[in-house]
Amino acid sequence: MSEHSIRNLNKRYELDVVYLLRSANPKYVNYAYVGTTPNPQKRLRMHNGELAAGAKKTESKRPWEYVLFVYGFPSKIAAYQFEWAWQNPHKTRHIDSLPYQKNDYRVTTKLQVLNDLLNSKSYCRWPLHLHIMIPCDELAAIGRSLHLRANTPPLFDLFKLQKNLRITQGSFEKHYIDTGNIYSFANINGMSKDDRCADQYHKFDMVKRRNPTCRLCGEALEIKNHKSYITCLTPACLMMSHIICLADKFISEEISEHQCTSRDEPLLPVSGNCPDCANTLCWGDLIDTMHLRKALIR
Ligand SMILES: [Zn+2]
Ligand SMILES: [Zn+2]
Repeated sequence: MSEHSIRNLNKRYELDVVYLLRSANPKYVNYAYVGTTPNPQKRLRMHNGELAAGAKKTESKRPWEYVLFVYGFPSKIAAYQFEWAWQNPHKTRHIDSLPYQKNDYRVTTKLQVLNDLLNSKSYCRWPLHLHIMIPCDELAAIGRSLHLRANTPPLFDLFKLQKNLRITQGSFEKHYIDTGNIYSFANINGMSKDDRCADQYHKFDMVKRRNPTCRLCGEALEIKNHKSYITCLTPACLMMSHIICLADKFISEEISEHQCTSRDEPLLPVSGNCPDCANTLCWGDLIDTMHLRKALIR
């Protein structure tokens, strides 16, 4: 497969980002909007009226600019659920909804809600990516201006407390030049998205005629059903298993390691070691790469 066709297939792969916009209109300072899109560059042009369709709600407060966005959700539905919770902090069950009011559209409030969500029991386990579009100093200054609850560190530090969160910063243009792909903000295990794409294609090509089996239960893998199995992220490792088998293994290891009671048994694993190469694999990265392969190989 040529580098050019990998690039083209990569473009077709949709990655949902949940974004925070702020109005750059001096009449609406500190006014925010939260949404979800697979194409943040195009979506911003819609919000700003450069492209027709959509974004009615934001029409009167143009122009808009990105503050930041969150991505790396295991599914489209998961991204929409996160968006809903971010838009409706007074109703969501994921965080303490008491401090929040309905119709509070301030950027500062939205950042506080994001901080609560990323540190919540529901989302702190997910290896999400936070991409900041405004200068980091400016975000930190907004954080300091917040009326945070007693004894909490500044906002920007709080984002860092969530250990699975990867934080990157910069404009679309900068990342396009650095990675050749506007969606590849962060590398996974030191590999760019293009490299992961090529690696997944190579592995699929190697095993597709061999009737591969699950490394854990020994049963056959349905190689064309991309949503049913996972491959290791280490380039030289050909470990493949059912998604369910590897999730069960990782979860049972996490339970024995942390001596969880059955009540707080996690539904999604955070990470675990590959049964073949023993490298640490983050669950979100495995799922992200599975989606990547699914989009790449049809
Ligand atoms: Zn299996
Ligand atoms: Zn491996």
